[in-house]
Amino acid sequence: MKQFQIVYRGEKEFTEELEKFRKNWEHMPDMMFQIFSEILKEDTIKKVSSPIEKVFPDVPWFGCSTSGNLVDCQLAAPVTVVATVFENESSRFKVLQYEYDEDSIEQITQKITEDAEANPWVKAIEMYFTIPEGSYTRFCDGLKNIRSGVHIFGGVSCSDDITSSDCCVFSCAGGYSEKSIIVVFYGGDDFYVDSIKVTGWKPLGRRFSVTKSEGSLLQELDGIPAYDVYHKYLDINNDENFFYNTLEFPLLYEHNGTTILRVPVASNADKSILMSSDIDVGSTVTISYGDPKTIVESIALDSKRIQKFCPDLLHIFSCAARRTFWTSTDPTYELEPFKDIAPSAGFFSHGEFLRENDCLNQNNVTLVIAAMREGEAEQAELQNDAEIRTSRSKIPLVSRFATFITATSLELEEMNKKLMRAAVTDRMTELYNRAETNKRIGKSLADIESEKLSLIMMDIDNFKRVNDTYGHQEGDNVIIALSDILRNEQERAPEKISAGRWGGEEFMLVLSGTGLEEAAAVADNIRKSFAGIKFTASGSQTVSVGVTEANPEDTFDILCTRVDTALYEAKKTGKNKVVTL
Ligand code: GH3
Ligand code: MG
Ligand code: MG
Repeated sequence: MKQFQIVYRGEKEFTEELEKFRKNWEHMPDMMFQIFSEILKEDTIKKVSSPIEKVFPDVPWFGCSTSGNLVDCQLAAPVTVVATVFENESSRFKVLQYEYDEDSIEQITQKITEDAEANPWVKAIEMYFTIPEGSYTRFCDGLKNIRSGVHIFGGVSCSDDITSSDCCVFSCAGGYSEKSIIVVFYGGDDFYVDSIKVTGWKPLGRRFSVTKSEGSLLQELDGIPAYDVYHKYLDINNDENFFYNTLEFPLLYEHNGTTILRVPVASNADKSILMSSDIDVGSTVTISYGDPKTIVESIALDSKRIQKFCPDLLHIFSCAARRTFWTSTDPTYELEPFKDIAPSAGFFSHGEFLRENDCLNQNNVTLVIAAMREGEAEQAELQNDAEIRTSRSKIPLVSRFATFITATSLELEEMNKKLMRAAVTDRMTELYNRAETNKRIGKSLADIESEKLSLIMMDIDNFKRVNDTYGHQEGDNVIIALSDILRNEQERAPEKISAGRWGGEEFMLVLSGTGLEEAAAVADNIRKSFAGIKFTASGSQTVSVGVTEANPEDTFDILCTRVDTALYEAKKTGKNKVVTL
């Protein structure tokens, strides 16, 4: 494969350039043209595509609007045209265009999947999107049945204002459109593809759970308004610099086995934050940090894999936010490591797509690099990945501090979890303690209108005698054996059953969603299991049990007194039995 940039200086000059190019390539192999345009006008695109159609009537062309064009890892002209020549007879490609207005996302993804299936030569699918209404998730999920191993990558078209949704795509397959997706299939017997994603942003500090969000609107993290998190932890204010300040600290989360970034775009009066794309409720996120030195180091490391692949050329999809991030130096500064690997073309995008582990994801703040090659790789003399990693240059100080903060936060998080567990647990039996059991009874009682509640209270029979005759240790063994039975019962349905130690050798089971009859059956099973145990020293032991179901009129005290009365009744009438009340 070879790539040529054909300079566009106006329709007439461009036609002449194309004529010249055609003469140099008299025996024209397969070929395609990519057009990247910072100008969104249909008329401008026509001035580029018409000469191509005139001089190369059979050569496919496609492209999109951008927030900046890249050729050979450098910023290129506002309208950039790149010709790709396929040199190998067996290489194939195909350009398709789908309109959002004509088909639903499901229909489009279905068609792409069927088309890829019907063409077994396809090894890579490249996509150029216009910004759709709503989420990309449906689109990504829709392509999950594309056969394993096919690379999928691409970018969302953009304009120079990255906060605007103005954009367009265009191709020989469907012309100019503001609501379309261009799909390019690449493949053939001797065609090879690799694709990677690089961010360079690293996790910083503690984790947060997304507790409230709606599409791209992030409302709460750990129950705290999202803006307050940025303000408290990073001292970022809700002013005109919000976007630029938060760009250094996007949110990072695990999704489909990979890490994904989302950038805060704007903060609202209600302290919610508009993100660059959707984040699901229930996701665990960390704030991440973008430190220039760390990013460059990370990219240099990841570029080795591409170098090893020996590509003929690279297609680059870089987030427009990265261009903003590097503005003070040079927007293409971070692309340096790819410059000498192979010729490249690409653009600054509004979102980047990459299939990893057979799952397609939409990323932000990311650099997606697709590497293509015809024929076997020339043997590259390169260190293996392990050697590359151990020979890392000096790690930047910021990176070490961030590692320190993250490690300390995780330790605190772990410690906090242990303390929280200890605060609700009885040490000896590892059941809930009395305070937690009380809390759970109170909570279930509050929901009594919508869900039943039963209590089981039990007390080991003649326990003083065990202690007095066989010693305190044997007494402990008996308590622990009963506790094990209760814990197993709880593990059967932890969301319904809570087992607690009420005190000494007395226990309480809280069963939500359970009526009296079912609770009595549970109680009797426990009684029988316990009676079946043979302790080495003290032999068989028994337990007396009281069971009751809560009424809507019950107070906490009335309910607990009633179950206690049932237990007392069981003791009084012979022990080793279940009494319901
Ligand atoms: P009843 O059948 O009427 O329940 O008679 P009982 O002998 O079991 O009487 P009671 O319930 O009043 O006995 C409680 C005894 O449990 C008293 C206390 O010394 C003992 N005990 C309380 N906590 C522990 C413990 O953690 N370990 C041991 N070994 N004994 C305990
Ligand atoms: Mg007792
Ligand atoms: Mg007892």
